[in-house]
Amino acid sequence: MKRVLSSWIVVIGLGAVADARQDSSTVRMMLLGDVNLGRKVGQAILKGDTLYPFVNARERLEAVDLVFANLESQLTDQGGETQHPRDNLIFCGPPAGAWTLGRSGLDIVSTANNHAFDYGFKGLHETITALNDAGVALAGTSGAAVRAFPPATIARNGIRFGFLAYTEFVNIKGNWSDHIAVYDSARAADDVQHLRQNVDIVIASYHGGAEYVTRPRSRTLRNLRALASAGADIVVGHHPHVPQGVERRGTSVILYSLGNFVFYQPQHYWTQIGLAAEVTVVKRGDSTRVLEILLHPVAAGLQPGWRISAGALDSLDRRFQSTTSHSVRRDADIFRVDVAN
Ligand SMILES: [Zn+2]
Repeated sequence: MKRVLSSWIVVIGLGAVADARQDSSTVRMMLLGDVNLGRKVGQAILKGDTLYPFVNARERLEAVDLVFANLESQLTDQGGETQHPRDNLIFCGPPAGAWTLGRSGLDIVSTANNHAFDYGFKGLHETITALNDAGVALAGTSGAAVRAFPPATIARNGIRFGFLAYTEFVNIKGNWSDHIAVYDSARAADDVQHLRQNVDIVIASYHGGAEYVTRPRSRTLRNLRALASAGADIVVGHHPHVPQGVERRGTSVILYSLGNFVFYQPQHYWTQIGLAAEVTVVKRGDSTRVLEILLHPVAAGLQPGWRISAGALDSLDRRFQSTTSHSVRRDADIFRVDVAN
């Protein structure tokens, strides 16, 4: 709804302003970590509390032009079940979760992750249908068997964004290899280079690595860097469930792990603090570039919010200073990534 409204405002009220800005446009995009609409969150949605997980976050999400997240749960009707009765690592949200995302300002999700086959093909197909019906784009899975997974492309203010999504692995065995984009270095490099020719900004989403560790291990690091080297402007990592550092490679920025967003894991300190990356992209003439990246601390959980304690901010600052190879500077209660050329 925000897009329709804003374009009408431009057309009706600010036509002259829009004309004057034709050779320069800006988009603000928010990248979020893991969003799990299963378990307790799924039960709240099933009871009709559709906006439950984003009640504290959605105002800020609605205020930017484009929002991405990793959707860690399938969205499928399992007769009221949102977690397997005997295995808490199998979970799903209800199909109505797609409306939760759409009405909370989310525009696109990655569906390539280790939970992408928790409820099999029924879950995979219903997830895609529900997202399509709610107007939420997706990258990383396909209902039809494919060899190359189609990217999602979204334009805002004349800037074209392309999203690709990969997962390092899938928990449940099955005949899903043509339906879930598991990372393959040659294929991913091809995907990025091809997409690069058709959009202004390429975002590559990567779900993998070891959980709860401070830094990515060598295989994950190699894959994240390969996506950057292939030409992704931003490589966004998730799955470790904890925030990790930032690396610059040429003009590409790698966000190792954004940690949790909607994900309730009170058993560890860092699983309750995530990052939301606010990326400002500017286009002048034929040249488009990332102007600014701000990392907003997130109080992750069932209903994530934007306020973390002063002590947690200090801890996050120390974590960045000790782990990131690229400069991340604290600026009051946010962190600023150095993207200067
Ligand atoms: Zn995961």
